Amino acid sequence: MTAPAVPACITPEQATRNWRCPLCHAPPGTPCQAKPEGDHLARYLDAYTAGRLTREYLAAVLAELVVITRWQIVQGGTS
Ligand SMILES: [Zn+2]
Repeated sequence: MTAPAVPACITPEQATRNWRCPLCHAPPGTPCQAKPEGDHLARYLDAYTAGRLTREYLAAVLAELVVITRWQIVQGGTS
């Protein structure tokens, strides 16, 4: 008998995307915006609040933003 497969490593971006977006309700695994691919900042904040992201990663995401609104899209490639 073998144990169920568990992903060996999950990136912070994947951890965020595996979270349902509280703003647009994009389901887990689906980006909030398709082109360019990205997710709402609200999704990152919820994932951080739930302990899925480190404070350092969230700070790095915020540092890339020029304008911060609740509905801000964070484009992929942060990690
Ligand atoms: Zn969203």
